[in-house]
Amino acid sequence: MSGEEGLLVRKIREGTVIDHISAGRGLQVARLLGLENSGYRMAIVSNVESKKLGKKDIVKVEGLFLTSEQINLVSLVAPNATLNIIKEGNVVLKQKVRPPEIVEKILPCPNSSCITRKKGEHVVPRMILVSTVPLLYKCAYCGTYVGEAEIARLL
Ligand SMILES: [Zn+2]
Repeated sequence: MSGEEGLLVRKIREGTVIDHISAGRGLQVARLLGLENSGYRMAIVSNVESKKLGKKDIVKVEGLFLTSEQINLVSLVAPNATLNIIKEGNVVLKQKVRPPEIVEKILPCPNSSCITRKKGEHVVPRMILVSTVPLLYKCAYCGTYVGEAEIARLL
């Protein structure tokens, strides 16, 4: 068995498998979840063949169950992701992520003249969901649109 096959079939006992991540975004998902150097045992499997996405990434984390804030973060860079919650070696819950209607604080507006970018104004960035497929948000203040690729760059 090759190393990659080993990673694919090795089961985790308790934790979360984040499936259907757009190819190339697995590392970013792990980073956004704060998993780098976290001590969690995890595996990032890249460029797996997928019927739905062509290629996909998978992130498996032993012992981690995501908070709703973490799920929202995942949904912004991997809007097709499915969370598989594993307990005692079995999938007990499958859940598709849903990009939130309103994203506050975490996603900066790319428009440099937006009020949220002005020092001294202390206006918290707020993005409003326009469309899920393709993923599109709009700044609540200046109306600048932000699509999936740019969101991934901004986070
Ligand atoms: Zn703006």
